[in-house]
Amino acid sequence: MVVVMAPDATAEDVARVVERVESVGGEAFVSKGLSRTIIGLVGDIESFHHLNLRTLAGVADVHRISDPYKLVSRQHHPERSTIWVGSTTRVPIGPETFTFLAGPCAVETAEQTLAAAQMAKAAGATILRGGAYKPRTSPYAFQGLGVAGLQILRETGDAVGLPVVTEVVDVRDVAVVAEHADMLQIGTRNMANFGLLQAVGKAGKPVLLKRGMTATIEEWLMAAEYIAQRGNLDIVLCERGIRTFEPATRNTLDISAVPVVQAASHLPVIVDPSHAAGRKDLVVPLSRAAIAAGADGIIVDVHPHPETALCDGPQALLGGELRELAQAVRTLPQVVGRSSVA
Ligand code: PEP
Ligand code: MN
Repeated sequence: MVVVMAPDATAEDVARVVERVESVGGEAFVSKGLSRTIIGLVGDIESFHHLNLRTLAGVADVHRISDPYKLVSRQHHPERSTIWVGSTTRVPIGPETFTFLAGPCAVETAEQTLAAAQMAKAAGATILRGGAYKPRTSPYAFQGLGVAGLQILRETGDAVGLPVVTEVVDVRDVAVVAEHADMLQIGTRNMANFGLLQAVGKAGKPVLLKRGMTATIEEWLMAAEYIAQRGNLDIVLCERGIRTFEPATRNTLDISAVPVVQAASHLPVIVDPSHAAGRKDLVVPLSRAAIAAGADGIIVDVHPHPETALCDGPQALLGGELRELAQAVRTLPQVVGRSSVA
């Protein structure tokens, strides 16, 4: 069950609902969205009915949600959400706009990160990506620069005027990543790391939640529910390809996930064609497909020297391919009724 508070509900109104729910042995999880607060109820539904929560001050509506995910479900929230990223420059990700996020897979040096950020910005990107903690398949591969990488990313973002998103792979690093980044990324390998999801749910920054490469859409939305349940509804979902029998691409981009998720959840959904394909020649066609399917944005790897990149060089764009992508992002969103964010 979900209680939707009115936009002008006070903290006391919220506390009263929580207190009533707890008085009958239930649990109440309060999530603050941009325009209103919603409260997810866990416990005996029958006893909640007797509380007549609809009659309490500040309560706009009470819904019984049949989806297994509640707070992120579209059943109680028909309008799709817009999530804002950044503090000085605030960038929307949502249904009206198309948002282009780009940057290096990994922060390697200050020079490489600045060069990649300038490429990203020149191509029209409005949020800078870059990994400081890299969850690599091999323990012998480059694992990222850690805190030094976070500092480089933050300084670079400030220098070029772009908010930054970066991955967090360990509960112990959530605080330091939240201190440096405007948005926290949960990668495909950690989508079902429930302790980490709960920790980013309390970190006070928007979250970019990638789909687990073997996760169903329902499992992915349940992962989002873990974040929402800890009080954070500022979640952007990211389809990044799933593991199938097809070896031609690194993963298979599940383009149908875009409209399926948008029908099921009010959260925005973006696409990562770089990690899906693992090949730079597919990034532009998959990006066009993402725009056409109605994605709320894309996140793309760029690198000034892909041949020497410490991580994912074969999928990084530069030069002509990046110009082609920039052209697609400038022109195609309006064909499907959106403006591109620049
Ligand atoms: C990344 O975006 O840097 C990354 C590691 O992606 P994924 O978790 O989708 O593999
Ligand atoms: Mn990568």
